[in-house]
Order: sequence, then structure tokens, then C-alpha cells
Amino acid sequence: MKVRLAAPIQDDSIVDGAGIRAVIWMQGCSHNCKGCQNPSTHDFKGGYLEDVDNLKEEIKALDIDGITLSGGDPMFQVEASLEIAKYAKSLGLNVWCYTGYTYEELMAISKTNKKMLDLLNNIDALVDGRFELDQLSYEVVFRGSKNQRIIDVASSLKVGKAIEFEKYKIGNTQNKANSDNMIFI
Ligand code: SF4
Repeated sequence: MKVRLAAPIQDDSIVDGAGIRAVIWMQGCSHNCKGCQNPSTHDFKGGYLEDVDNLKEEIKALDIDGITLSGGDPMFQVEASLEIAKYAKSLGLNVWCYTGYTYEELMAISKTNKKMLDLLNNIDALVDGRFELDQLSYEVVFRGSKNQRIIDVASSLKVGKAIEFEKYKIGNTQNKANSDNMIFI
């Protein structure tokens, strides 16, 4: 299986989720958020194709806490995202995913797309929603704008509605980069 990437794996991120993370920069996004910092990742024919098996080998060799699917929007490549997320979980790594869709929109898509539900089942933390320039904030950790949530996907799927990780909720005093974040999930 092939995946369309915007850039090679970044293997040392501390800003795309908790701990030391490998970021998979996926190509393709149609959300067109005003002020997007990665407009070069929008073109669905841009970037380059990579074999998912090669990515798996790269991930396996890394000393990391987890992987982060980002982009672009990984939800436009559901099958490849699922394959990568499942593999990371099989290695005992946690999985974060950034998307311009809201959790509720993804659940609606899941009704007709079982792979989307499978993917959600393999994501620990979902950073959801479009980047909203008028809600830009440098205070909220791991996000660009205040409307974006960091969702505990397993708990959300269990209760049937979006549940945010308490420590990352807007207004929580722990909602800042600190040493505690390094041991999160
Ligand atoms: S979802 Fe992300 S990549 Fe897509 S336009 Fe919005 S900020 Fe940019």
C-alpha cells in the first residue's frame, strides 16, 4: 500500500503530542483554513508516494513514545492511516492524530465508512477541528486555535460523545507544556 506524504518522517518532535514523537506528514487537505501554516500540504497530487511498509520499518527503528499522524489531513488517506496506526499500536506506541474534521463529523463519516471507525479505534488522542485564525492561541498546548480539542477517543467511543482529556481542556491550569506531559499515555 502507498501513502502520499508531504515530507519524510520527523523523528524528534515534542510539539505534536506528548513525549518524543515521530510525525507522519501526510499530503492532501481540502479544509482551507485561513492562516494554515502548511499550505503546501493541501494539493492531493502534491508531495510524493511512499510505501507504507517502508514507513513501518522506519517507525520500528525509532526510539520514540508514539507517532503522530498530521499533514495535510490524515483522514483523507484513511486506509494508509489505519495501516500505520495499527502497526504503531502493535509496537506498543501511542497514536495521536491531527484533523480538520471535528470528532462529530468523523463519527458521521464512520456510519458509511467502516475504515474510518477502525482508524478512530486505533487513535489515542485526536486533535480535532479546523484551524480558526480568530481563535489563534499560543497558550493552548499542542494546538493552534482554541476551538480545537484533544479528544480521548477510546472514552468517546465508549460513551458515544466527544470526551476531551481533562488536563488539556481550555482553562485547565495544567494545560501547558510541562514535564507531566512527557509521561502522558
Ligand atoms: S486542516 Fe490543517 S492542513 Fe488542512 S487547511 Fe486546516 S490547518 Fe491547514
